[in-house]
Amino acid sequence: MTITVHADVVVAGGSVAGLICAREIARNEGSVIVLEEDYEIGTPEHCGGLVSLSGLEELGVIPSRKTYEHLIERAEIFSPNNTSFTLNSKNQKIAEVNRRELDKQIAHQAQKNGAIIKVKTSFQKLIDGGVRTNEEEIKCKIFVDARGVSSLGQKDRSGIIPSAQYEIYADWIKKGKVEVHFDQDKYPGFFAWIIPIEEGKGKVGVAGRGINVASTIENFLGKREKHSTIRKIFAPIWIKGPIKKFTDGRTVTIGDAAGQTKPTTAGGIFSSGLGGLYAGQSISEFLKTHDTSCLENYQNVWMRRFGKEFEKQIIARKILERLDNNTINKLLESMTPSIIKEISENEDFDFHSSSIVKLLGLRGSIKTAQTLVKGEIRKMLSFDA
Ligand SMILES: Cc1cc2nc3c(=O)[nH]c(=O)nc-3n(C[C@H](O)[C@H](O)[C@H](O)COP(=O)(O)OP(=O)(O)OC[C@H]3O[C@@H](n4cnc5c(N)ncnc54)[C@H](O)[C@@H]3O)c2cc1C
Repeated sequence: MTITVHADVVVAGGSVAGLICAREIARNEGSVIVLEEDYEIGTPEHCGGLVSLSGLEELGVIPSRKTYEHLIERAEIFSPNNTSFTLNSKNQKIAEVNRRELDKQIAHQAQKNGAIIKVKTSFQKLIDGGVRTNEEEIKCKIFVDARGVSSLGQKDRSGIIPSAQYEIYADWIKKGKVEVHFDQDKYPGFFAWIIPIEEGKGKVGVAGRGINVASTIENFLGKREKHSTIRKIFAPIWIKGPIKKFTDGRTVTIGDAAGQTKPTTAGGIFSSGLGGLYAGQSISEFLKTHDTSCLENYQNVWMRRFGKEFEKQIIARKILERLDNNTINKLLESMTPSIIKEISENEDFDFHSSSIVKLLGLRGSIKTAQTLVKGEIRKMLSFDA
């Protein structure tokens, strides 16, 4: 016999967006159940874990010592011909967080507010007035889709690119130093990265359109000195920006499932987390007033915060995808100490399109790139006019 339970809201997906949304609904006295199909919150971790401390604070999370070890102090950017320059990132206060711990910390906040979290429980489908899980039927007023990129894959595959990320031990991983490697032949439209967890331990990743990420990451690691791999993760990332409608009737879509990750780097702890927060507040308002315009208002709030920035990032992505290795080499070689200093001092990790403009030399010097992507550059600069 199927058991039927009731809640105001069911959230499918117990990660950063879903848990923050549930925390907010429960804080406002709504009853909410979070379904997570994996057997443990925060696992398997599929994230580089880079996030600004100011972003975490806005999400309402004060990270504990368990959550992060250290701040990122510098980022070395490599061009395809292996020349590099280093940005000082101390001002930005970016942490490398342990997502297994961060997600559990948010789950605890949600639970303390009154949310119920169920692991090893998957959302299967919407039914009349509720949802069906692998265990039961739950009657609810609102369904929140926080299932991440897997939800987008069912609708549109064109914005998805594959990624691989290995956690490794290696003496060449330096605490506080991120590396980013551009090479359009090896990582088309994306890059390879190294993110330290601590001295001698970190995450190495690759992503790119149409590549075999398993062999690409092995090649990347094969060129480095000795290492030992302790974890492998293969996960899709979304780089096409927000979906058209966050709210459809009584279904509210949040986080990666709504395309709320940065189109440049696919980073989404902050922007997807805020999607969860804004949606949680709008749903709470709806539960009090029964006014459906509250649900739609969530999209307006998120777009006011990220709409323009994400549009600029989409243009920056289009530019990157059209540059060949030769042009990237020239662009990065032309970085002057004053541009590097300006980016280091003024970069905003969460809204970084203005740094990309500076990086690409779009305000002046680089004729090659300007000729190649004139239209896009004009569009990108026109946002600032
Ligand atoms: C390799 C990689 C590196 C990244 N690095 C960074 C980084 O350094 N910084 C950054 O800010 N962002 C990074 N991101 C992005 C970041 O991980 C996501 O933006 C963020 O986790 C989005 O959170 P979410 O809650 O929207 O979705 P997700 O974290 O994807 O969570 C979705 C959840 O839904 C669950 N689920 C799916 N289907 C069902 C179902 N049917 N029923 C129940 N549960 C279901 C999943 O198990 C999962 O727990 C990275 C992503 C990848 C892939």
